[in-house]
Amino acid sequence: MNQQLSISNRLQRIAAYLPRKPHFADIGSDHAYLPCYVCLIDDKAKAIAGEVVEGPFLSAKSTVKANQLESAIDVRLGDGLAVVHHDEVKQVVIAGMGGPLIKSILENGIDKLGNVERIIAQPNVDAKAVRKWLHNHGYEIVKEEIIEENGHFYEIVVADKMDIPQKLTEKEFMFGPILLLNKTTAFYEKWKTEQDKLYYVMKQMEQASVPQTEKLDRFTNELTWIEEVLHDEERDNES
Ligand code: SAM
Repeated sequence: MNQQLSISNRLQRIAAYLPRKPHFADIGSDHAYLPCYVCLIDDKAKAIAGEVVEGPFLSAKSTVKANQLESAIDVRLGDGLAVVHHDEVKQVVIAGMGGPLIKSILENGIDKLGNVERIIAQPNVDAKAVRKWLHNHGYEIVKEEIIEENGHFYEIVVADKMDIPQKLTEKEFMFGPILLLNKTTAFYEKWKTEQDKLYYVMKQMEQASVPQTEKLDRFTNELTWIEEVLHDEERDNES
C-alpha cells in the first residue's frame, strides 16, 4: 500500500513528528486525512481517528473506506480522549483547534495518557496554554515548528514524556522554547501580526470606561517581550 493522499503542508509537517510504526490517536480528526496519510506511507502504522461531531465522523469513515484502511484506522465517535482505551496508544495528535480546547481535551483525558510517549499539538491560538499544560504534566517540549499557510501561522508543539521536569520561563511558554532558539521568517511574521493585534486591543482597552488594569499590565508585559524578540530580527539583519 503506497498510494499517496494529498494533504496540506500543515498536516504533513505534523505527520513528520510521528515515529515509524506509530500507534496513535488523532483527536478531532475531521476527515481523517492525517491518519490516512500516515497509514498509507507506513503500512505498520495504526491509528484511532476520534471525532465528536457526527458529520466529520462520517467524513472520516468515508476517507478511511475510500483508502481501504479499515484494518489500520479505527474511526470512533466521542469526546476527546474518551474514545481511547487505557494504554491503547503511544502517541496523541490534537491539531487545528484553539489552545484552551486542546488543553481541556488533555486534562479530561489524562487517565488515557499513561502509555503516551509523545503528544503532538497544533493549537491555532494560545499555544502558551498547551505548553503550560504539557510542562505541568511531565511532558518536555522537544521540537517545535511554525509554518505559514494561506495567511495563517500555525505552531506545532511536540512533547515527550520525561521523568525530569523541564524548567521553562513565562517568555518560553509564550514564544516556545525551541522556536526562540531558531527564529525563522514565519516566527517573526507571526509575532509582527500579534504585535499589531495587541496594540489595537490595548488602545481599545485604554479608552474603555471601566479600566482593566491587571489585563492591561499583562498585555504591556507581553508587548515588551514581543518588541524584544522582534528587535532580535533587526540585530540578525545587521550582522
Ligand atoms: N485535526 C484536523 C486538522 O488539524 O486539520 C481537523 C481540525 S478541525 C478544525 C477540528 C475538529 O475537531 C472538528 O472536526 C471538531 O468537530 C473536532 N473536535 C472539536 N472538539 C472535539 C472534542 N472534544 N473531541 C473530538 N473532536 C473534537
